Amino acid sequence: MNKAKQGLLAKFNMDEIMNCMHCGFCLPACPTYRETGLESHSPRGRIALMKGVASSQLAIDQEFEKNMYACLGCRACETACPAGVPYGSLVETAREVVEEKKKSESKPPFVRKLVFEKVFPYPERMKALGTALWAAQSTGLQTLANKTGLINILPREMAEMQQAVDKIASPKERKQRKQVMPAQTAETVLTVGMFTGCVMDVMFFETNQATAGLLTKAGCRVVFVENQACCGALHAHAGEKDGAIELAKRNIEAFERAGVDLVVNNAGGCGAALKEYHHWFADDPEWKERAMAFVAKVRDANEVLAELPPLVFTKPLNARVTYQDSCHLAHGQGVRNQPRQLLKSIPGVELVEMSGADSCCGSAGIYNITNFDMSMQILDDKMEHVKETKAHIIATSNPGCLLQMKKGIIRAGLEGQMEAVHIMDLLARAL
Ligand code: SF4
Ligand code: SF4
Repeated sequence: MNKAKQGLLAKFNMDEIMNCMHCGFCLPACPTYRETGLESHSPRGRIALMKGVASSQLAIDQEFEKNMYACLGCRACETACPAGVPYGSLVETAREVVEEKKKSESKPPFVRKLVFEKVFPYPERMKALGTALWAAQSTGLQTLANKTGLINILPREMAEMQQAVDKIASPKERKQRKQVMPAQTAETVLTVGMFTGCVMDVMFFETNQATAGLLTKAGCRVVFVENQACCGALHAHAGEKDGAIELAKRNIEAFERAGVDLVVNNAGGCGAALKEYHHWFADDPEWKERAMAFVAKVRDANEVLAELPPLVFTKPLNARVTYQDSCHLAHGQGVRNQPRQLLKSIPGVELVEMSGADSCCGSAGIYNITNFDMSMQILDDKMEHVKETKAHIIATSNPGCLLQMKKGIIRAGLEGQMEAVHIMDLLARAL
């Protein structure tokens, strides 16, 4: 075996792979296994493939790549696993190995390079993208393109998913953001740094504003920390570990400079990545220490609001609400009770649990673009469970899940009867 291949395979943590005892307890929890019944689309099967590759018995070929990317990365298998196999980091390593092998053989595809190297790492470029989307909406171009079918010049997956995109904030609204928002209580309990996220701040700017507003009402001084970047989760899940590490360093530095008590976010996917930064610096003691100090401060907004004195609501919502867990909030961070506790605290809200609430909706970062058909199959199953609840509102805690649930409502023909809302917006609605 040549040195380059040896170096690639050394990335796999054989101890973690060998921890899998093939019991299969994870199989019923896995959405892709439930949909296909294929062992290669199950956590156990994928770990067996990783073991084969790591021990050089299998090649890093297209079949291996296909099976690794058919995984949602939802980590429901981690919750189900009695042996504590860290599947999420195993599949990230497998994808990193696939991507590094491809890079060593040829240039990465242009679109992938554009997205991961030229767009997501740069907040200004993400904002420019937001402005372009806002312009398409406010000039009526998006509506016209949908009505005339012109939208179909986009790839099918993008043409489908754009239907779920809500009104984007205008550049003027963005400019009006105050960098520091004082606590709206007699005393300031905490100073928190708001982690805005890249997609979240472009597509759901108002949700970030609402979250900050809720935090100030609960006694926090909120700082929109300057020079923060994308969390790096999309890079890490797509095998772009070097890019993810660069983004993590920028965030650690930015929040260190801000000197805040907590780093608060409202996107389950971002939060799970932020809480795992120390694992990304396993071979770099200096950055690992800084990452651990950063990680100790990271909280989801649900966690913070559930711990602070209760919010005072003035507008009863009188609605039946069901909650769709964000996989990375529930399985990645173990945050399940706090969102439910907050929803139940809203006057007039009847919380109805749906069956399989913590099973992935099929969004999974950009899975609904890269694996559109499987994503929609999983979504349609999810919507059957949603319908059983007879809810008026689906609340969730992650931008990807929110877009996916909006798409689910459209696909199920439930527009006008049901809406999908970020939990922070729902709480703000009742204040
Ligand atoms: S992360 Fe989700 S989709 Fe992937 S193997 Fe685990 S349960 Fe299945
Ligand atoms: S539950 Fe855990 S140990 Fe059992 S097969 Fe799945 S990953 Fe392996």
